[in-house]
Amino acid sequence: MERYPHLKQTDYEIYDLIRLQTLYESTTLKMIASESYVSFSVLEACGSILTNKYAEGNVGARYYEGNELVDKIETLAIDRAKQLFHAEHANVQPYSGSPANHAVYRALLKTGDKLMGMPVPSGGHLTHGWKVNFSGLDYVQIPYSPDPETGKFDMDQIRQTAKKERPKMIWVGATAYPHKIEYKDFAEIAEEINAYLVADIAHINALIIAGVHPDPVPYCDIVSSTSHKMLRGPRAGFLLSKVEDRFQSTYCPEHKLNLAQRIDRAVFPGLQGGPHLHIIAGMATAFHEAMMPEFKNYGVQIVKNAKKLAELLLAKGYRLAGGGTDTHLLILDFRNEQFTGKEAAKALAKSGIIANFNMVPGDPRSPFVTSGVRLGTQSLTAMGMNETDMEKVADWIHRVCRNITRIDEESPNIRQEIADFCSQFQIPGIYPYRPITRHVPIK
Ligand SMILES: *Cc1c(COP(=O)(O)O)cnc(C)c1O
Repeated sequence: MERYPHLKQTDYEIYDLIRLQTLYESTTLKMIASESYVSFSVLEACGSILTNKYAEGNVGARYYEGNELVDKIETLAIDRAKQLFHAEHANVQPYSGSPANHAVYRALLKTGDKLMGMPVPSGGHLTHGWKVNFSGLDYVQIPYSPDPETGKFDMDQIRQTAKKERPKMIWVGATAYPHKIEYKDFAEIAEEINAYLVADIAHINALIIAGVHPDPVPYCDIVSSTSHKMLRGPRAGFLLSKVEDRFQSTYCPEHKLNLAQRIDRAVFPGLQGGPHLHIIAGMATAFHEAMMPEFKNYGVQIVKNAKKLAELLLAKGYRLAGGGTDTHLLILDFRNEQFTGKEAAKALAKSGIIANFNMVPGDPRSPFVTSGVRLGTQSLTAMGMNETDMEKVADWIHRVCRNITRIDEESPNIRQEIADFCSQFQIPGIYPYRPITRHVPIK
């Protein structure tokens, strides 16, 4: 079956690279904690003619004509987002997670204001005030980090810092924190110092939908998210919020806009022009899929798989940052090893296990090599793997890490075993268009 007949005819180079990437993604274990597999339906919506349309503005108030149908599409995306997360307000226009977070700053702060967030090496995102990002250049980050001993948040420490520094906003959310986040505890601190509380759930939204992670929506002024990663929608961002601003009277009296209006204005015309309607349609489809009972099972199974993998790796003598996981995410801690996180990630990739090197709490090595590898179970779960399959995954990880010095000899065998194993699964968005089942080395 030919999947891209037109592309194949008109632009063979791009066609062939997409074909090879499909092959690569269907013969390797996708363990990058921020990726997953979208469905055929999401791909169809994103590949639709909606990419042709301009619709600057918001539903019912556009600067271009011909948007009656498009308004219905964006309304569906908004309503589904609100329903899915029980939110009062949703904006689905941000082009990705970083632009969504940028809009949060524009809606809540003035340049030079203080915010609390985690530095990147501690597991925070670039947009939480990191020095090379707009958020660190234009605003002042007051850093907080998980305790280097326990790998968990020390709420007393965070409260002390907040009271001393009095930031106007607190980010809570991470790219590499394997534990549950208690938003209620952060909300108490934000309340005490009159700060906005903003959750960034890009990594864990499906766990919240499945009810296996605390829900930030009741406790936070704004909740920011991506729709790719474990939610399995297109690459985009969205913002959920309360309608009213808790600090309206004191904070932004000149505008008389409520919180929802300020967010909408920050996104458009503050930061963006025309919304990507094909992507918004794909997002609506992904939200629809996330309302199905199977999606809850997926969220539950992600955590079961991660806990099982953690248990198996611990039993083989590995160390995990924070001692384990209660999300999708594990961070292998190689501080005691001769090899670095980067060397381990490269050896794993050569063998067909695709992950990334990552700092561990208290990491003595530089961020360019690190002592950790971050793993996520959401893509394997989307393929249909369960706890039994984690035994194979743990064995392969162990075989790679045991053989790092002679990985060139060992990796081709592991790579082929993994390719054969993957061929047993019906991968969303790929099956039955799998190009071939044998793995072809990348030249
Ligand atoms: C991925 C991520 C983002 C940003 O997403 P992009 O779409 O890559 O810009 C923001 N916050 C967190 C916590 C993330 O993990």
